[in-house]
Amino acid sequence: MTTTNKNETNESTHGEAFDECAYCGHDTDIASVPAVDDDAAWAVVAKQHKPDCEWVMTRAHRVAAPHHYDVREDGGAETTIYAADFDAACELAEDWVRGGDYDLERGEEITVHAYVRDPETDEQRTVVVTFDGTK
Ligand SMILES: [Zn+2]
Repeated sequence: MTTTNKNETNESTHGEAFDECAYCGHDTDIASVPAVDDDAAWAVVAKQHKPDCEWVMTRAHRVAAPHHYDVREDGGAETTIYAADFDAACELAEDWVRGGDYDLERGEEITVHAYVRDPETDEQRTVVVTFDGTK
């Protein structure tokens, strides 16, 4: 009768574990939480999260949550995005419009207008993104 000696070590080939962000779902290998006012460190952290990740935008819920900004595509869907300020909201809206579900195979130029509204000041801004479907 032979005995099997199980002596396996569970060594990981990965140096660092990747954890999924509970807020945006992106994988991140940064385990530490930077200080609230450490802008440089938060900029590094932000690269491993979605642009509108609530955990990043609130600096791990130690600063006030950013405003919600309503974004309405001209004649289309309506959505709400997080942003620290109105200018950032407009930039995010451009990203959102670019990420929309458009058929670019048709070889035509598509222009999309997105209206961003600040719910507090009622300021509105139009974001226009033109797709070049010929590329
Ligand atoms: Zn995240």
